Amino acid sequence: MESKHWVQAIACIIVLLLAVAVGGCGSGSSPKSENPGDKVKTAPTAEKSKEPLVPKSQIVDWCGEHGVPESVCTRCNDNLIAEFKKKGDWCAKHNLPDSHCITCHPELKAKFEAMAPKKTE
Ligand SMILES: [Zn+2]
Ligand SMILES: [Zn+2]
Repeated sequence: MESKHWVQAIACIIVLLLAVAVGGCGSGSSPKSENPGDKVKTAPTAEKSKEPLVPKSQIVDWCGEHGVPESVCTRCNDNLIAEFKKKGDWCAKHNLPDSHCITCHPELKAKFEAMAPKKTE
């Protein structure tokens, strides 16, 4: 009888579909046993950007008013005068360290101009 074959065919297809569904479902929901390991990893807190302190090169040691380094500007810092006089580096005529006196030493002018920070204005 043909009807019997038809039923067997349907049954066979249903079995195949079930097998595929179960197999697919089983493989899709594989146990994720690696999760606990991932959770153990805590984000490292060493992400603080290491900002360097203000570079010393940015601290401009320059007296723009007198054209010499601020740290040796005797006209801004009277305390330095004695130091230069003690070293014999003093121009009494111009009341300046001899090493700063571009009037007596015009060649120093280029030297100090080279030392002066570039004006960006
Ligand atoms: Zn000065
Ligand atoms: Zn001088």
